[in-house]
Amino acid sequence: MSLSDITARIDAACTDANRAPGDVSLIAVSKVQPDARVEAVLQSGHRIFGENRVQEAQGKWPAWLDRFNGVELHLLGPLQSNKVRPAVELFDVIHTIDRPKLARRIADIAQELGRAPRLFVQVNTGAEPQKAGVLPDGVDALVAEMRGMDLSVTGLMCIPPVEDDPAPHFDLLADLAARNGLDGLSMGMSADFETAIAHGATHVRVGSAIFGARTAA
Ligand SMILES: *Cc1c(COP(=O)(O)O)cnc(C)c1O
Repeated sequence: MSLSDITARIDAACTDANRAPGDVSLIAVSKVQPDARVEAVLQSGHRIFGENRVQEAQGKWPAWLDRFNGVELHLLGPLQSNKVRPAVELFDVIHTIDRPKLARRIADIAQELGRAPRLFVQVNTGAEPQKAGVLPDGVDALVAEMRGMDLSVTGLMCIPPVEDDPAPHFDLLADLAARNGLDGLSMGMSADFETAIAHGATHVRVGSAIFGARTAA
């Protein structure tokens, strides 16, 4: 598939859901993709990209940011406290806040650098032991704590269990967001972004369907 195929499918899913096409941001997930493929998507004019690892992004994005204006970078992978500084320096949006200590560190660094990334709270909707994210019953408290730190929370993010129907997970995330007064819903990947849009996604994170299969994890 190409970027334009995915954009067309997003527009169609929005129409089906009676939503405006501009309601949904497409994050092109460029992790471990060959530079030439990422550069082709940049050349085509797309500007919203997602990466999983701070270190990988630090290695490849500064040169592109010099050459292409208006790029918006999203961090989609787990964030360690010792990587918060480079993450806040490089990323415009962080999708993986899941504990107060991490939020506190981001608040401190953001104030020091005068640069505040938009923040999503990652929710482990399937309560999977190996997966990052706050459990659904901890969302209200974490959002309240972050607001108490003067952090503004943009929305919630989830990665449903691979073996599950994603729709109930998307609905749960939407309910948790609504009751916390949050508009942003980061949900939906290559296999399920149309379902996610039907259930209210504002940000879909699509990698392999745009760039092709990843050869390394
Ligand atoms: C890799 C990744 C994606 C993109 O996955 P695809 O199936 O290639 O679309 C989306 N979100 C997160 C958090 C990821 O790690």
